[in-house]
This record gives sequence, structure tokens and C-alpha cells, in this order.
Amino acid sequence: MATETKPLNFATQAVHAGAAPDPATGARIQPIYFTNGFVFDSTEQAADIFAMRRTGFSYSRGSNPTVAALERRVAALEGAKSAVAVASGQSALLLVLMTLMQSGDAYVASSRLFGGSLGLMNRLSGRYDLKPQFTKGQSPADFEAQITPETKAIVCESIVNPCAMVMDLEGIAAVARRHNLPLVVDNTLASPALIRPIEYGADIVIHSTSKFLGGSGQTIGGIICDAGRFDWKASGDRYNLITGEWPDYPGLNIAERFPDFSFAVACRLFGLRDLGPGLSPMNAFLTLTGIETLPLRMARHCSNAKAVAAFLKDHPAVAWVSYPALPGQEGEALAARYAPDGPGSIFTFAFKGGEQAALKFITSLELVSHLVNIGEIKSLVIHPATTTHRQLPDADKAAALVGPETVRLSIGLENVEDLIADIDQALAKVA
Ligand SMILES: *Cc1c(COP(=O)(O)O)cnc(C)c1O
Repeated sequence: MATETKPLNFATQAVHAGAAPDPATGARIQPIYFTNGFVFDSTEQAADIFAMRRTGFSYSRGSNPTVAALERRVAALEGAKSAVAVASGQSALLLVLMTLMQSGDAYVASSRLFGGSLGLMNRLSGRYDLKPQFTKGQSPADFEAQITPETKAIVCESIVNPCAMVMDLEGIAAVARRHNLPLVVDNTLASPALIRPIEYGADIVIHSTSKFLGGSGQTIGGIICDAGRFDWKASGDRYNLITGEWPDYPGLNIAERFPDFSFAVACRLFGLRDLGPGLSPMNAFLTLTGIETLPLRMARHCSNAKAVAAFLKDHPAVAWVSYPALPGQEGEALAARYAPDGPGSIFTFAFKGGEQAALKFITSLELVSHLVNIGEIKSLVIHPATTTHRQLPDADKAAALVGPETVRLSIGLENVEDLIADIDQALAKVA
């Protein structure tokens, strides 16, 4: 008898979604399929897979069973119809932009983004004429103000790297809908445990899985999630990789053949078959393992970060702290609304003593490691103005809230008293 099954809760999906005991061996853990190729049943099957007349594994650049398990799990956690795993967070953004646009097109992008994203956008603008239309401020009206007839998409982060600002996703999604534009949200700093952008109207969600999803700082990876909701065909031939004929795949029209997740299919076909940045099965396996503890880790990341931010805010050497879970902070209401469990554990603060104080603090830390990753189990620190945001012009640095006096912390899962003690001793050396 068929019964209505209640959807599984988030923590259960984090452990189970997309993977099951291996039917061939009974192995409980997702096997790592280290194989480049997959034997075809017949020459007809091989030809059909190559012509996109049927789906199936053929070559691991385009898809692999271990990678597919990761894709199903992240899609489930984000509430997406489908996902495409790629070699890094950078490739995730690159593939999204290249799949949506061609030279001469433009897209509205938040002026507050991860430094690598800003760098990629500026490079693609200069060399390939894919034009970012950066916002002046971060409100939905600021996004709407940049839209022109050339605009093909809107891009923002859910929680901004490095300043921890939480964006008004519902407001920005309403702007996107009004102008028939897909909304792309980089959800790396929130992870689906804190914010699920598709619930607020995002059409495409991307991640650097190198951060919270993997969690342990072992592997680089990225993923693209397709909400499957955007009506590509309503825009005529504006998104012609999705709605048009592919001359080298006779009869293929992705929007017709795969209406529920056309963007993901276009990303896989163009992004992985043509451009090629696939994820290794080993990295997919490690990321999948990391995701199993995501909800537990995020709760501790957030509570530790809040305690550290509160401690810093009251310290006489500190000019300001940007962590919107603290009372009286700019953006407090947006953080409370979109990230009630906490706005993650990556945030910035600034020294009254300027760059010299910031650098002295970083080199005086003992427990907190000076390195460029974020979202790891171990606590990390960096000076963005001379590292992650170094390549940006000063005006872009200012827009991203990254001055010479600014330090970024990524708070890990250590005992919080030990963390505060380490930060306190380093602050004492600055004074
Ligand atoms: C790190 C990061 C990226 C890039 O990801 P990689 O895996 O390092 O390539 C993109 N977006 C955000 C918000 C990030 O923090």
C-alpha cells in the first residue's frame, strides 16, 4: 500500500540523501569509483549517450557515480532539482556565467563578493566582454538600478565573504522576477544548513565545497544547483545554449528534453564536456563525508563565532566588528530574518592601530592558523587587503569593506575559551 511519506528532515538528509548501500557489495559507505570510462552495453547505447538521446555514464569528465552521489545530496539539501559538481568554487561561477551568457552580454553583480569572484568577473570583462554591472549599494533597489537591456542575470552571495553581511534574498529575487532574470546566489558562507536561497526565490545556487560543505580543509571543489524553476523559454532566444538547437547534437533542445533541470544539463554539456573542470571522485567522496556532519558543525561554528565577535567588539584595540548577529550591528534585521541560527563563522574586524596592528595581531596568534581558506574545523585568520583582495583597485576594496586595518577570521570548532584566550594574548601584543 502506498503511503504518504513525510519528507526527511535536514539532518537526516545530510547523512542519507543521494547515497544508499552499494547494491553490488553491500558496502554501507558510498564507494569511490576510480574509473575514467564505463563499459557500454552495446554500440547503440554508446551512440545514444554521445548524442544525448539517453543518459548514462560514459567518461568521468562529464559524470561519475561517486560524484553523482554528492550532486544528489547537495541538490537535496538545497531543495534543487539537480546539481553539477565541478573542480572548484571558481569553476562553479565560471561555468554559470559562461552557460548563461556570450560576449557582449552583461549581468548585475553585488559589489560585495569574494575577492576571487570579483577578480574572475573583471578578467572575463576585459578579455571576453562579459560585463559585470556592479551595484552601488546592497539593497534590492541598488540591484534594480543597474539592470539594462543587456542584463542576463543577477549574482550575489547569501552571506558576504568577508564581511558577513546577510543579503535581502527575497527582495533581490523579486527584482530578478520582475525583469525575467535568473538569480544566482553563491551560498558558500551560509551552507544550506543556515540559508537555502531557493526558498527565497534563487534560480541557481553555487558553492565552493572547499569550505563548510567539505568542512575539514582537505579538498577543493564546487557545485552548481539548479532550482529548475526559471522559465528559459519565456525569454525567447536570450539563453540559446538552453533553448536553442545545438548544431553538433542534431535534434537536441535542452529546454524541451529536460524541462525540470535544463540549466544543469546545459552546464554539464557545455561546462564539463567542452570546458572540462570535473570533480575527482576522491574529492567528491571526502566532501560527501564532510556533509554528514554539516548541521552539527554549523551550530558550533555560529555559537563560537558569536562569542568571539562579542569579545572583540568590547576590546579597546578594536575599531569595529562586522558580525550582524551582534546587537546594534548594521544588517542585524536581515541576519535575524534569513539566518536565525547565525550568519556563519567568517567575519571581519578592524584595528584602531591600522595595518601594522592588523599584521602584528595575525603573526601573534598561536592556535588560530594564518592561511587563506575559510569554513574549516580549525580557526583561521587572514589579512584580506594584502592577500585575497590584493588584486582589486582601492575603490573595489573599499566597496568590499576591506581596508588595510581589516582582519578576517574564520572561527572553527575549538573550545571557545581557548580561542578567546589565544585572541586575547595576540591583542595584548598589538597594544
Ligand atoms: C572560496 C570561495 C569561492 C571560490 O572557491 P574555490 O573552491 O576556492 O575555488 C567562491 N565563492 C566564495 C564565497 C568563496 O568563499
